[in-house]
Amino acid sequence: MTCILQLGPLTERFNRGLAAAHEVLRIWEQDAEALLDQHATRIDIVVTSARFGCTAALIERLPNLRAIVSFGVGYDSIDVAAAKARGIPVSNTPEVLNDCVADLAFGLIIDCARQMSRADRFVRAGEWPSGGLPLAARVSGKKLGIVGLGRIGEAVAKRSSGFDMQVRYHNRRPVAGSEFGYEPNLIELARWSDFLVLTCPGGESTRNLINRNVIDALGAKGSLINVSRGSVVDEPALVEALVEGRLGGAGLDVYAKEPDVPEQLFNLPNVVLLPHIGSATEETRQAMEELLLANLHAFLERGEMLTAV
Ligand code: NDP
Repeated sequence: MTCILQLGPLTERFNRGLAAAHEVLRIWEQDAEALLDQHATRIDIVVTSARFGCTAALIERLPNLRAIVSFGVGYDSIDVAAAKARGIPVSNTPEVLNDCVADLAFGLIIDCARQMSRADRFVRAGEWPSGGLPLAARVSGKKLGIVGLGRIGEAVAKRSSGFDMQVRYHNRRPVAGSEFGYEPNLIELARWSDFLVLTCPGGESTRNLINRNVIDALGAKGSLINVSRGSVVDEPALVEALVEGRLGGAGLDVYAKEPDVPEQLFNLPNVVLLPHIGSATEETRQAMEELLLANLHAFLERGEMLTAV
């Protein structure tokens, strides 16, 4: 029987199904060191997620590890280089979450501009009879800049057509055949944009890509929407710009040190804070689980994965 090390809980349905078909060691339910001392040499597969990751130290600890199967498309928390050095394939769950992450990004765009969360707080606080909200900003017809026109970025761009928005994007290189304008200079894209949406990967190659210069180029007329990773943004610089009013607003699903959210943001009316829920719908999470299991079974049956990174 295949011995699986599961690094963190997914849904109850998934946890049960996995344990019914394989021997599963649940590291979060017991003393991790003791578990590894006893079972490290028996472990064939690691099942993890973008959230739980997999370090080089753990990979090194498992001499017979054959594959790492992950839940989520981002793999910045998995040491893929350490796995590849040992010939261990890593899989993720791309495509099936594009729509829901793009829907959420668009929700953040609309919320930032139209102050929906703020207006909701206003009604619930009983302030409507005595006061008014300041006028909001229009969404339709505005300029949408996308940093990372990949699978999710394309889905965001597609949604913008219903809002008659102009779209430009920044990647390291232009997307062949794209109908959208390529902007090689990120600062120029930020200067042009009303909404700058981040849909690039996390990790070292994009760390603090959105620095003070980019934030200032977006400026008081602009909003930053982040559904990628907190590491992509220089978070102290973002907080400072918002507190000082140098940036118009922000819609954030991800943060530098989750689940910690900078408290200075809590009282800012022009900031929408979500707890990393980009893919968190019943339908999408089920599709992600199914793709994880399809990768696991393809590897066990044929030695190959459907969506290896
Ligand atoms: P893709 O690989 O399809 O797209 C990533 C895009 O980013 C590519 O177009 C790539 O283009 C661009 N990119 C990569 N590096 C850079 C860089 N240094 N500067 C500018 N652009 C760059 O990924 P997905 O669309 O599938 O996913 C994107 C990310 O979204 C994930 O990695 C994950 O971090 C995040 N995510 C967040 C979720 C949430 O819950 N909030 C849920 C799911 C995903 P090029 O290579 O040409 O530069």
